[in-house]
Amino acid sequence: KSYLSRIRLTEPQLKCFLHVSENVLKDAEEIDQRIAKGEELGPLAGVLIGVKDNICTEGMPSTAASRILEHYRPPFDATAIKKIKELGGIVVGKTNMDEFGMGSTTEASAFQVTANPWDLTRVPGGSSGGSAAAVAARQCMVSLGSDTGGSVRQPASFCGVVGLKPTYGRVSRFGLMAYASSLDVIGCFGSTVADAGMLLHAISGYDRFDSTSSKQDVPEFQSQFLSVDHFESKPLKGVKVGIIRETLEDGVDSGVKSATQEAASHLEALGCILTEVSLPSFSLGLPAYYVIASSESSSNLSRYDGVRYGNQVMAEELNRLYERSRGEGFGGEVKMRILMGTYALSAGYYDAYYKRAQQVRTLIQKDFKAALEQNDILISPAAPSAAYKIGEKKNDPLAMYAGDIMTVNVNLAGLPAVVLPCGLVEGGPSGLPVGLQMIGAAFDEEKLLRVGHIFE
Ligand code: GLN
Repeated sequence: KSYLSRIRLTEPQLKCFLHVSENVLKDAEEIDQRIAKGEELGPLAGVLIGVKDNICTEGMPSTAASRILEHYRPPFDATAIKKIKELGGIVVGKTNMDEFGMGSTTEASAFQVTANPWDLTRVPGGSSGGSAAAVAARQCMVSLGSDTGGSVRQPASFCGVVGLKPTYGRVSRFGLMAYASSLDVIGCFGSTVADAGMLLHAISGYDRFDSTSSKQDVPEFQSQFLSVDHFESKPLKGVKVGIIRETLEDGVDSGVKSATQEAASHLEALGCILTEVSLPSFSLGLPAYYVIASSESSSNLSRYDGVRYGNQVMAEELNRLYERSRGEGFGGEVKMRILMGTYALSAGYYDAYYKRAQQVRTLIQKDFKAALEQNDILISPAAPSAAYKIGEKKNDPLAMYAGDIMTVNVNLAGLPAVVLPCGLVEGGPSGLPVGLQMIGAAFDEEKLLRVGHIFE
């Protein structure tokens, strides 16, 4: 009840949710009954979870913030949602986002603009801006987002919460509306690393409905938090941390740089061995990401044809029906991505763009592999700046894309990463949060969570 009244109080200003469930109290009562019957539900029992609107929830609107899916209510739950419900978690509602995950500010939602709880004139980041802001504003306890190129980590940084992007394949994508299938992962937001880690544990694991989900064991992430001795003077003794040189060069705000350097000193004080590492192909990641993500999206979004799902705009002739449904259903950013992707995949351009981007992807994977052979984790800022003003980058897509430089490489390599608050810079009524990104080796979320938990 207290969360619902907090939503009622803050939502008119924040606009984090596209839909709030009518069943929260009923669901909570059911959890009580299951517990009374002796069911052992674990740490998620009764936990209120916000869910990004591109994750399918049975019978509840799931629109990916697009007009083309305005009235769509899926007949099934995404695997992550199914697991959450089995463990007693409660879906409190569906959160706002950039349409189909394409954007970095949540301004590309077809329905509303979400405000950053730290400063209502600023963006919460994106594309999972609603999920990040809802946790920051304590409208829910934890939330789910999706991260194709930084959409969990960058809004976590802008809103001062923890954002966890798992290894590609750790969490089933079944029921996550596809943006770029080789990059997409469902990720978790929480107020603490432990909260985000517990949610990740609940949704992880192999799923026969997603052929790219991994059969790797899912360790008990919780033990990482329970076994920490906070009185030990150097709890991270000997942990090798590489700070990525290319992420602290020109174009990064000075306040962000100094917060990152202070975070590095804090890790050293906890016992870590700090070195500088270089990822030589780092700057190639951004163009490669936008070619690959747009290409995959142009294929994935062809399913929205006005026939199978969502809005249909009637016409005399079938091709006109497709044109009108897609023309009226998709927003400007989505149309631009479809055009870019279709172009990059066309005969005659394929070798110059798509193939080349895939080659860059291999280089980036090699860079990370080499750096993670020498280090346990790598660190960088989560974004080159703190949250910017609503409208500031809306008409300058290239400037907005450039803000993804810290995060996209991690998706190209499929690695896990966590972003956690590491300081404030000037701005807004009480300062603006800055996030530190920690990147780990594939399927080594455990180490990330341990270091992150001790760090915070
Ligand atoms: N901002 C990036 C994009 O627009 C990343 C989005 C995401 O991770 N979904 O593609």
